[in-house]
Amino acid sequence: MNGTRRLRYPGRCVGCAVALPAGSVARWDPGTRRVTCGDCLAREAAAAGALPDVGVAGGSARREYERRQGRREKQVREAHPWLGELILALSEDPQHVRAFGVGAAGETALGRELDELTAGRDAVTVHDRRITRPRGQIDHVAVGPSGVFVIDAKNYTGMVAIRGTGFLGLAEARLFVGRRDVSALAGKMTRQIDAVRDALAGLPEAAGVPVTPVLAFVDAEWPLFRAPDEYEGVLIEGEGSTCRLVAGDGPLPWETCVLLAHRIAQRLPVAR
Ligand SMILES: [Zn+2]
Repeated sequence: MNGTRRLRYPGRCVGCAVALPAGSVARWDPGTRRVTCGDCLAREAAAAGALPDVGVAGGSARREYERRQGRREKQVREAHPWLGELILALSEDPQHVRAFGVGAAGETALGRELDELTAGRDAVTVHDRRITRPRGQIDHVAVGPSGVFVIDAKNYTGMVAIRGTGFLGLAEARLFVGRRDVSALAGKMTRQIDAVRDALAGLPEAAGVPVTPVLAFVDAEWPLFRAPDEYEGVLIEGEGSTCRLVAGDGPLPWETCVLLAHRIAQRLPVAR
C-alpha cells in the first residue's frame, strides 16, 4: 500500500488505537509523528471508494497454460528444426496443455460477471489468491451485502447430481457432474474457508460475517427438479446463481464490503 513502511519502533494507530509492534506495516507521518494501521488505511480507501487490487480472474490458470504451451512449442521446434513451425500451425495443443486453457476460460467467464458486479457496486470480488500451508489457491472471493463467498469454479460438463452409492444407493451420498465423482472438492474447500477466515481475523467490521464455500459448476447441466443446492456444507451453484447469490440482499453496506475485500487482498496475495 502506498506510503506504508515497516515501523522501526512500536506505536499506536491514530485511527483505532490498536497497538502496533515494531515491524508492523503502517503509514508513518513524519510531520505529525503519527502512525496509521493497515486496517485504518483500508477504511480510508473504502470510504473514498477505492477498491483493492482485485487481480485477474483465471490469471494463474492462464499463466500455466502459457507456460505449458511455450514449453511444448519449444520441444516441437527442437525436435523438428525444419517442420516445427508447420507442425505447430497445423496441430492442436495436446490435452495436458489444453486443459489449462479451458480452465482459464471457464474461470474467466464467471470472473467477468463477478467483475461486472464489482463495477455495479453489487459485490466486490478479488480473484486468484494464493494460500499457504498447505499450498493452494482460491479462484474468487466475493464480498456482498450478505457476507463473504469463497468460490471454486469448475468447468466440468454433464448433469449435476447427488447420488447414493453402494447397495440400493443406501451408502454415502456422493456428488457427481456427469460420470465424474467430484465429492472430494467439497472437503478441499475447508482450507480455503480457513484461509479467508484467518485473513479477516481481528477486523471488527468482519466479526459475525458469514464465510460461505461455493462450488460453481459453470458449464454443467442442471436437473429441472430437485437440483442439488448443497453438499457437505458447500453450496452447489451454476454461473448465474453464483452471481445472484453474492449480490443478494443483506446488511453489509458497500463500504464494508470494500473494506473486507481490502483485508483479504492484503493478506492473501495474488497467485503467480
Ligand atoms: Zn487503525
